[in-house]
Amino acid sequence: MADVYTSVGVVVGLGLAWLTGWNWLDPVIAILVGVNILVVGYRLMSESASGLMDATLSPEDNARIQAILDAHAEPGRIEFHAVRTRESGARQFMEMHMLVPGDWTVLRGHDAMEDLVEKIVAEFPAMRVTGHLEPVSDPRSYEDMAL
Ligand SMILES: [Zn+2]
Repeated sequence: MADVYTSVGVVVGLGLAWLTGWNWLDPVIAILVGVNILVVGYRLMSESASGLMDATLSPEDNARIQAILDAHAEPGRIEFHAVRTRESGARQFMEMHMLVPGDWTVLRGHDAMEDLVEKIVAEFPAMRVTGHLEPVSDPRSYEDMAL
């Protein structure tokens, strides 16, 4: 739409300059057209760039995910960290570390993770969840939180 205004503006401006003999109108219009092209160009570039790059989910969706995790957490026993979400086209991805008591069996830890993933996917059908299970009492579990 803005490019239509640019073309109309140029024609109207040149017409005015010609009709009125105000020659200063010509460079003023040229500057305005130049600024308009820069603005439109910047907007097109940033729109297409953000479509190409993965981005985190919306703050609302991230809050909903955090609420699901909070509902599963038991401070000191079951905790979560390194929670990251991203959207790539129609797909959503989520990573998280689930910290559980170290004496849980693999079966119990896996069951707990599967239950949680089920809850998340029930609310976010396009979501692929990758979970990392860690013992809550091991200091090494906390060394991998940075991006
Ligand atoms: Zn971790």
